[in-house]
Amino acid sequence: MNIQDLRRDIARYWSQSRVSCFLRCSLQYAFRYVYRVEPAFTPAALSLGSSVHRVMEMVSLLRREGDIPTADECADLFAEIWSRQLQEDRNIRFKPDENAESCRQQGQQIVRTFRENIDEREQVLEVSAALAVPLITSGGDILPDPLIGEIDLLVRTPEGQKLIVDWKTAASRWPVAKEGERGKADREVQPTALLYAYKMQHGEVLGFRYDIVVKNKTPVFQRITTSRTQDDFDRLVAIIAVIDAMTRAEHFLPNDTGFMCGDCEYADACQNWNRDRRRLVSCAA
Ligand code: SF4
Repeated sequence: MNIQDLRRDIARYWSQSRVSCFLRCSLQYAFRYVYRVEPAFTPAALSLGSSVHRVMEMVSLLRREGDIPTADECADLFAEIWSRQLQEDRNIRFKPDENAESCRQQGQQIVRTFRENIDEREQVLEVSAALAVPLITSGGDILPDPLIGEIDLLVRTPEGQKLIVDWKTAASRWPVAKEGERGKADREVQPTALLYAYKMQHGEVLGFRYDIVVKNKTPVFQRITTSRTQDDFDRLVAIIAVIDAMTRAEHFLPNDTGFMCGDCEYADACQNWNRDRRRLVSCAA
């Protein structure tokens, strides 16, 4: 079963994107997943990220067969997928200094950078592997809805370590861990959710690595590894249990102080939220 099948067949579920969305802005979560408000546009960064992801998925499937495309072939593949993405995505909104052509060029640079940084000694074990597992608290209680997720890539490193790898594009370099402090990768929900799901499904706690291309004029490649403990898993399940209770009670609030408001597809609905609240609550019931 792939992730699309899981999303279609499981009526209610949790995922790292849902949890992350709720933690950033619970009202955006509500518009997207509870009230099902039609998004006003698709941010160009999201379309670009989807195309990059599709290219990297194809590159990894070929890699698994021992056939790694060249950087030029990756760039050609991106151009083809990007033209399809432009047809598929609804009302793509570009930033003032970008358009479809500049994003094509940027996407081609990004996939070239990913390709140039592939460690050919690594063995590809799985590509786009779906996971679906129960959420169990430290006290043994099972939450009503499962956790689902998708692993971009599972590799065995030359040192023999199994790692979940996730591809990211970013506007700026991710802050890395300094002495006594955790870096961005150590605080993300995604590694916790995927490592928990992998452990529940396969009984192994793996490592996790972000392969990131920073969208500078000349793209920069960052490779950041992180790990999680049983306490991190217990904490994630505890957080989801609280979110579950809050969503059932429709306790949603705007986070106007967040950095995401400028690029939020629900900004109009958000402006009217306090006036429309009675209608929204009744339509979700
Ligand atoms: S505009 Fe800002 S506060 Fe409103 S839903 Fe979007 S992210 Fe949340």
